[in-house]
Amino acid sequence: MTAFPSLNDRKKARRLVVVLGDQLDRNAAPIVEIDKDRDVVLMMEVEEESTHVPSHKQRTALFLSAMRHFAVELAESGARVDYVTLDDPRNSHAFTTEIERAVRTHKPESIHCTHPGEWRVLGMVESWRDRFGVPVEVHEDGHFFTTLDAFGSWASGRKSLTLEYFYRDQRKKHGVLMQPDGKTPVGDVWNFDKDNREAFKRTPRPPEPYAPRPDEITNEVLDLVESRLPKNPGELGSFRWPVTPDEARRALDDFIEHRLARFGPYEDAMWTEQPFLYHSLLSSSGNLKLLDPREAVRRAVGAYEAGAAPLNSVEGFVRQWLGWREFIRGVYWTQGPGYPNRNGLGHRGRLPELYWTADTDMACMRDCVSQVLEHGYAHHIPRLMVMGNLALIARVDPREVGDWYLGMFVDAVDWASCPNTIGMSQHADHGVVGTKPYAASGKYIARMSNYCEHCRYDVKQRTGVDACPFNSLYWDFLIHHEDRFKPNNRMAMILKNVKRMNEFQRVELTSSAKNARERLGVIG
Ligand code: FAD
Ligand code: SF4
Repeated sequence: MTAFPSLNDRKKARRLVVVLGDQLDRNAAPIVEIDKDRDVVLMMEVEEESTHVPSHKQRTALFLSAMRHFAVELAESGARVDYVTLDDPRNSHAFTTEIERAVRTHKPESIHCTHPGEWRVLGMVESWRDRFGVPVEVHEDGHFFTTLDAFGSWASGRKSLTLEYFYRDQRKKHGVLMQPDGKTPVGDVWNFDKDNREAFKRTPRPPEPYAPRPDEITNEVLDLVESRLPKNPGELGSFRWPVTPDEARRALDDFIEHRLARFGPYEDAMWTEQPFLYHSLLSSSGNLKLLDPREAVRRAVGAYEAGAAPLNSVEGFVRQWLGWREFIRGVYWTQGPGYPNRNGLGHRGRLPELYWTADTDMACMRDCVSQVLEHGYAHHIPRLMVMGNLALIARVDPREVGDWYLGMFVDAVDWASCPNTIGMSQHADHGVVGTKPYAASGKYIARMSNYCEHCRYDVKQRTGVDACPFNSLYWDFLIHHEDRFKPNNRMAMILKNVKRMNEFQRVELTSSAKNARERLGVIG
């Protein structure tokens, strides 16, 4: 049994340094500045964080194992670490009451922590000063390329926040894939998206990604999660996630060597029982701060410079880290604490049960939800264009969708999950993240995957018992929101098709969609 540091020495602390589960950056300011004799590091495994939304067992296990590795490493370096385990009988299972207990024990002069990744937690941190009568210092999270102030300055005064402009500024500012003049992109184009939309059809089977073998700490955590949270969703058997910076670096090495070169062309492709294809699987390592995004970008650019990977793949990967990831975080913090509750399209349906069970005759949903239950993972396109798309066009309440995404993915932290779900996927933020909704019929899924070949539904039919449910739901969604979307130029083309429909076609589609929504359990 691994021994976890638990400090009861009641020796007064100068600083109480609180480290949360997604703050495992060994180079974070509060960690680097630790005085090993006088400061105490507090880490807490609280059940509240695994139950405020139903959390996938692998997500909980990943956080706990990575936290324990961090604590052991810190304690071995001589730091005083007070680590509260999930099964500690004194654990009150909420951050604030655990801080209160630690303040009573260690009597710190001040409390320090890195800026949290969630409005809810920031609210808690801001209450500590008044509650405990101890000064609290929140340090900038140096893990990201962009500070929150820098993003705020970039965003202020702009009518809309557009990823492409932000991304180009990032490339120039950080000198990534730029020609010597510092203004022109390498290859003379900023964006290779048009080269990066191949279906998977003719490619050889992708190499199996590196998966670290669970060590003693991880195995203990897996047992603990199974015994303590047996009713939480998801399976633990295929746990494969890096839990230390060393493992995260190996996962990056493996990706750069074996999958980066094909990352670009197959970025949007989906294939039955191939959840990973050429994706990096690095998001959880980044979000727990085991992997520095500068390292991910530096290594990818290095592969291009060494001639080991083509520009379209490297640019695609750089765009994800330097562009999307930083942009999404910036959006989250500019939109305020009410962001997770937005419902710009007024959707009120219930999330179908199949999101928890994968029990459905829709082949695409069965495969994608099964991946999530098995791995706590699906790449961007199943998240956006299959599972998110169905919830959007079936008009499910975005809050229910948001809770599902936040709980079910190993990389889910609020700053990343919320804008991707509420904004990009459900278009519930009045178009802050995307100027048009990511809604699609079955045709898109048929083009980008082989799912429809094995499905009991016919992707070519719009109505009738054998018609692909995505089709009627998609057209019904457009009919339902026709007036709302009219002023949006980017919707003009598609709305022309809606306008062309006669009354009979409209009624047929909306009643077919109503049947589909009833069958799914979205409406009762
Ligand atoms: P790759 O495809 O290999 O991409 C490389 C890296 O780029 C990722 O590891 C990730 O760190 C970053 N990245 C790419 N796109 C985004 C993005 N849109 N936002 C933030 N980072 C990005 N990502 C999360 O990290 N956490 C989430 O909770 C999350 N929820 C999502 C919910 C929905 C509805 C959608 C549509 C997307 C969500 N994403 C989320 C973004 C993206 O799907 C994942 O980052 C990606 O699939 C992770 O797999 P990967 O590491 O193999 O990524
Ligand atoms: Fe999915 Fe429709 Fe294709 Fe079936 S036919 S796999 S439901 S898109």
